[in-house]
Amino acid sequence: MAENRGLFTSDKMQAYLAEEPAMETQQLADHIWTVSDGQVRTLFLAGDSGVIAFDTFGTPGRARAFRAAIEAAVPGKPINHLIYTHDHLDHAGFAADLAPNAEIIADEMCANVIRLREAEGQLVPTRTLSGHHHELEIDGVSFQLINPGPTHGTGNLSTYFPDARILFSSDTILTNAKYGLMPDYHIANFVKFMRELAVLDFDTFVPGRYGIGDKSAFTKGCDYIEAIQIASQEAFVEMVPIWVMDAMQGYVGEKLRSQFGDLDGYDQHIGLTSIRIVHHYLMGGWGLEDTPTPDYLLADEL
Ligand SMILES: [Zn+2]
Repeated sequence: MAENRGLFTSDKMQAYLAEEPAMETQQLADHIWTVSDGQVRTLFLAGDSGVIAFDTFGTPGRARAFRAAIEAAVPGKPINHLIYTHDHLDHAGFAADLAPNAEIIADEMCANVIRLREAEGQLVPTRTLSGHHHELEIDGVSFQLINPGPTHGTGNLSTYFPDARILFSSDTILTNAKYGLMPDYHIANFVKFMRELAVLDFDTFVPGRYGIGDKSAFTKGCDYIEAIQIASQEAFVEMVPIWVMDAMQGYVGEKLRSQFGDLDGYDQHIGLTSIRIVHHYLMGGWGLEDTPTPDYLLADEL
């Protein structure tokens, strides 16, 4: 049987799409579990009658492995609700393979992108949210969904569990330095909006990739991105060839090593992260999201 393909067009992708990796599941609180395939990480919640899952992982095989991990932890409960943290296929691309009949909740802007994208396997949300802050109670479980403003992708929702003192924010801050290409991190306001989440009362931070951390790890992640922003600007003054990866890696890497060199993946990623961020200052940003007051992008103001 052919797998849903997202946006891939090559027939050779079938083996990649079908692979079902081992999942590592960890219970964080009474109703709350986190799951990772070793790279991408997400959450699911046990409701009274069913499961509330966040995202789908990035292939049909991974979506099935996620469903199996849920079934192993919470046997006999169907995935009745699905929440998209943002629009990206590597996190939320394959609801058709995870839970085709679930109610799918997402920010309205995220839903618009998904509807227009028409990626194979990525189901369109059935319930959309507009605005910054939402108190939800689903199937006996209470939590808050927060759109802090443009941070990463479109309509990125962070999730806060006040009782369990957990913050889940996908594909934003990491607990290490393993930021990838960062193509649509909205650098102009990214750290400002993420720091607004730091005022919440939480002990556990669950990122959308790699290991979980505590509040100080979250804060250090904000400090790290901000420090790269400062050092990247100073590279202009020092006449560093900002389009050259090795040059940026050497300049920013050495400048920030004493403060952040202990972050996992620092040496392998600081060059790429610096190249991305320096181009924000060179060119002015990603688009409407990178203006000083992007609040009008929230769907209820369009
Ligand atoms: Zn993403």
